[in-house]
Amino acid sequence: MKTALITGGTKGIGKAIALAFLQQGYEVVINYSNDEKTAIETQEEFNILGFCPILLRADVSNEQQVKGMFREFFQLYSHLDVLVNNAGICLEKNKVIQTTSLLEWNKIIAVNATGAFLCSREVADNMICFGSGCIINISSIWGEVGASCEVAYSASKGAIISFTKALAKELAPSKVRVNCVSPGFIDTKMNAHLTSQEYEELIDSIPIGRVGTGADVAKACLYLAEADYVTGEVLSVGGGYAK
Ligand code: NAP
Repeated sequence: MKTALITGGTKGIGKAIALAFLQQGYEVVINYSNDEKTAIETQEEFNILGFCPILLRADVSNEQQVKGMFREFFQLYSHLDVLVNNAGICLEKNKVIQTTSLLEWNKIIAVNATGAFLCSREVADNMICFGSGCIINISSIWGEVGASCEVAYSASKGAIISFTKALAKELAPSKVRVNCVSPGFIDTKMNAHLTSQEYEELIDSIPIGRVGTGADVAKACLYLAEADYVTGEVLSVGGGYAK
């Protein structure tokens, strides 16, 4: 049976990705960091649906915790087929650069960009050794086009795109693929800070006329997990936004 580990898989997009892989018959491990209550609720929800994912707690920006998480993973399973680097954060409120603190910048880069580096580094040897595996990084449309008042977030997501392209070239000779999904505006708690006016304006700017769902992003991940000849790509899931 194939295995998948989804970072930040207890809420929002990550939860939808976890469900999609469970429904495809994968053994799924779900990572989370801060919110244990929601993690357990999510696991229970999946149990009710007849699935038994494993929960592993680790802050993806913490090297020792990430090493510990993958040590546990490889005690349970010999091989990881799919790593989805989904865990991510943004500022609670959009800010201009002048009021963005170094602490805020460092935190966002650490979780969104360094987290993907640390997790990918821990699985590379296993995937190379098996001559198979797939890493899917969750970037953002803001990583492609940039967002005013979200410079740290946009920079972290832009980094994920170049990280994907570089690692794809490095691992392709070992038959390990690395791709990136770039969601547009997806209806999760990450967007809870938006005012209703900002929310309406964003919907107006989406050609397909609705916000995306976690399930929309999950479909793209499933495609990339199975697309044997696709690597180094950035797949936008944004309803045509900014195209
Ligand atoms: P969300 O609802 O806030 O969920 C974030 C998930 O990441 C949670 O499971 C959270 O678990 C986990 N997480 C946060 N910090 C972590 C850390 N340091 N280590 C491990 N896990 C951590 O966010 P979302 O909207 O689903 O976003 C998921 C991904 O999609 C992010 O990378 C985001 O940047 C990207 N994205 C989102 C949108 C959108 O419109 N929503 C658009 C483009 C891209 P805990 O709370 O337990 O820590």
